[in-house]
Amino acid sequence: MIKTVKGCKDRYEKDIKLFQYSKRVLSETAEQYGYTEIVTPIIEYTELFQRSVGQDTDIVEKEMYTFEDKGGRSLTLRPEITASIARSYVEHHFETIPSPLRLYYIGPCFRYEKPQKGRYREFYQFGVEAIGDISPLLDAEVISLAFTVAKRFSLKEIKVKLNSIGCKKCRPLYKDALKNALKLRYDDLCDDCKKRFYTNPLRILDCKKESDELKKSLPKIADYLCEECKEHLDAVKKHLTLMDIPFERDSSLVRGLDYYTKTVFEVVSTNLGAQNALLGGGRYDYLIEELGGRHVPAVGFAMGIERLITILEAEEKTVEKRPIIYIAYQENALKETMDIASILRDNDFIVLMDVKGGNFKKQLERSAKQHSLYTIIIGEEEKEKRVLQIKNMETKEQKEIPSDQIITFLKDHIKGEKNA
Ligand SMILES: [Zn+2]
Ligand SMILES: [Zn+2]
Repeated sequence: MIKTVKGCKDRYEKDIKLFQYSKRVLSETAEQYGYTEIVTPIIEYTELFQRSVGQDTDIVEKEMYTFEDKGGRSLTLRPEITASIARSYVEHHFETIPSPLRLYYIGPCFRYEKPQKGRYREFYQFGVEAIGDISPLLDAEVISLAFTVAKRFSLKEIKVKLNSIGCKKCRPLYKDALKNALKLRYDDLCDDCKKRFYTNPLRILDCKKESDELKKSLPKIADYLCEECKEHLDAVKKHLTLMDIPFERDSSLVRGLDYYTKTVFEVVSTNLGAQNALLGGGRYDYLIEELGGRHVPAVGFAMGIERLITILEAEEKTVEKRPIIYIAYQENALKETMDIASILRDNDFIVLMDVKGGNFKKQLERSAKQHSLYTIIIGEEEKEKRVLQIKNMETKEQKEIPSDQIITFLKDHIKGEKNA
């Protein structure tokens, strides 16, 4: 038997319902904020991620699915989507479109990680990117969108964790101070952090293996921010307060990817247990420049859909099913049956036609097994009289109605039941 690739999954039954529901709520929310969808390819040139995500990150070092195609090009299955959008921005000269450009995406990403509950090697990411403006109001807008998403999925005690990781002017000063402090504690660091000390010391701040005592002893980025970064952070905080979004400053918050600047944030909730972040994001003012574009500041966030689905499952969320109309018929009324099915589908009803035929009792049993709401019955007599029998499968009530009134009948009754 051939199975799914390790760390990948098929989606069906309950899972696909929650998946579709999540995608629908996410895209509706993004569109209400004026974001439009962008779809980029799943494969990109490997260089894109090396240059954007950063050579020294776990993603690029250990987790990418990279391969050579038959033309000898090095390609990678995208491990995240922001880099692709920045690439697309530069390639298609989106700077000529009025800014800020507001985009959202939903699609699969791939990382070669140890699979565990809620974490897959093929996973779906939803995210938004607001590109082309430095205004702190745009950071606040993106955070507000993220907060709204968390609310719509009924998360409890939602809070925003906020920090600034500085800019090209102030971050190097902080990095130096951090390295000076870390030098004295080098032997206490875990093996990964010993490497990070040389490549990306900021990442040591969010290493789960380091003790709180060590982290507390280190200098804080807040004390090293330049005027511009300080003012920017203050303005973001002011806007969040105006929008009644609860937030707290977390000076140990950094993001795993190299391209972030100034604002970084996470949305956390008590529903999520110890690893309580639902999503993370921030500003990336140099990414587009680094990929060969102009200096175009931007801000965004990304979240894993599997995480969301785990939460929905834990809360036993069920997605309302659309009613099914089943059609039972006699062989010589097949033409009439097919016409009815076609009219119903044109009017947006879900229609199942019996495929085995035979006596009505058997057909009604099969209808019940499909959890249909109504069964339409068309026999020879109905055909002659241009009527049909309609049976409510819950109340077992059966009625004869003229064939041409079926749409009105169903619309009235199904609507009536929903309002009841
Ligand atoms: Zn700065
Ligand atoms: Zn460590």
